[in-house]
Amino acid sequence: MEAKKDSLLGVEEAQRRISAAITPVTECEQIALGDSLGRVLGADLCSSADVPPYANSAMDGYAFNSADLPDIGKRDLKIVGAALAGKPYSAALRPGECIRIMTGAVLPQGADTVVMQEQAECAGDTLLLAPGHAPGQHVRRAGEDIARGDVVLKCGRRLQPADLGLLASLGIATVNVYRRIRVALFTTGDELREVDEPLDAGQIHDSNRYVLRALLTQAGVTCVDMGIVRDRREQVRAALARAADIADVVISSGGASAGETDYIREILAELGEVNFWRIAMKPGKPLVFGRIGRAHFFGLPGNPVSAMVTFYQFALPALLKLMGMQDRAAHTLLLNCTEHLKKAAGRTEFLRGVIEHDAAGQMTVRTTGAQGSGILSSMSKADCFIILPGPCTEVTPGAPVTVQLFTL
Ligand code: AMP
Ligand code: MG
Repeated sequence: MEAKKDSLLGVEEAQRRISAAITPVTECEQIALGDSLGRVLGADLCSSADVPPYANSAMDGYAFNSADLPDIGKRDLKIVGAALAGKPYSAALRPGECIRIMTGAVLPQGADTVVMQEQAECAGDTLLLAPGHAPGQHVRRAGEDIARGDVVLKCGRRLQPADLGLLASLGIATVNVYRRIRVALFTTGDELREVDEPLDAGQIHDSNRYVLRALLTQAGVTCVDMGIVRDRREQVRAALARAADIADVVISSGGASAGETDYIREILAELGEVNFWRIAMKPGKPLVFGRIGRAHFFGLPGNPVSAMVTFYQFALPALLKLMGMQDRAAHTLLLNCTEHLKKAAGRTEFLRGVIEHDAAGQMTVRTTGAQGSGILSSMSKADCFIILPGPCTEVTPGAPVTVQLFTL
C-alpha cells in the first residue's frame, strides 16, 4: 500500500538521523604497522624524531659552503672526498673545499649547498664553481618533512598507503587503532539461489551479497556472511535476532518495501525499533533504518542498483562514523553534464555516471544509459553518481551537476 507522498523522508534528513543515532566505537587495539592499512587511528600520532633525520643532498653533485659561492668569475674548490647514501664523509669541510655527494647522502659539517652534477665543471680534483647558485639549494633540511613533536596523523585518520610510509620513516612499528567493527549481512528472497546453484523458473542468482560483501571489505569492516534467508516470517525473525547478537551493524537486502512477503520492517518493529523506512529518492525508496538491541540495522532494498545506492548514501557514512573515522575526503564534484536529463520534481535521483574529458581536457559527466533500478550493469559501467536534487526537473546539455565519486 502506497503511503502518502509527504511521508517520504528527505535524503539529507535521513542522513542526519542516521548520523545522530551512531556513536563511534571507543575500544582500541595495538597492531603492527604492516597490518594497519585502512584502519582508523585511535589517538594523535606525534613524531619523536626529525624526518629527514639529517640534512642530505637532493641531487647527485658536489656539496660545499655557500660562503664559497663566487659573485663574479669562477672559484676553484678542492674535491676532498665523497659521500654516498649510507656512507657519510666524516670530516668537516674547510673553506675552499667541496666533496662529491650522491642523493640522500648526509651533508658534512661545513656544507650547506649542492651544485648538481649536470651543472658542475671539474678539472682533476678541482670543482670550477660558477656564479648563480642559490645558497642552500638542493639540500633537504633536517626535519623539513616532519619536525620532532609535530602531530603527524590525527586521531580518526583512516590510514592510507603514504601514511604507513610516514610512520615507517619515524620508526613507528605498531599503531593504536580503533577495533574493527563487525557487520552481519544476509539477503532475503525465495527466488534467490547461490552463485553455483542451477536456476529453476523464476529464480535468480543472489548478486547483492557479492556486491555488499565487496563494499564492506572495501570499507574495512569484518563481514559475517549469513547467506540467503527465505521469505518466511520465522526465518527472517531468527536471522535478524541472531545477526543483532553478533554484530555492531546488521545489513539485509530485500523484503524492505510493502509487498506481501516483505517482513523486514514488521519484524524490526517487533524485535527493536524502526527509525524510518521510506526516503524521497530514486532509486532506493524503501530503506529501513533502526536498531535491535545494541546493533544498528539497515534494511536495503533488493533491487541491485537500489541496494548499492542506499549502501553508499546511508550505510557507508554510518559505518565510517562508527569506526571512528573523522577525516572523510571530499568526494563530490561539480561537473558539466554532456546529456539532456529529465526527471519528475520531488525525489532526489541518483543516476549512474561516467566521467570523461572534453576536447579542452575539462572533466565532464554523462550517464551510463538505461537507469532502471535492476540494471546492475549501469553501476558496473559507472564511476560516480550524478545527484539530481528533488526540485530539479531538467538538466540541459553543458549545465553543471553534482557528481559523487565511488570513493570512501
Ligand atoms: P525486494 O526488495 O525483495 O522486493 O526485491 C526487489 C527486486 O530485487 C526483485 O526483483 C528481486 O528479485 C531482486 N533481488 C532481491 N534480492 C536480490 C539479490 N540478493 N540479488 C539480486 N537481486 C535481488
Ligand atoms: Mg524479496
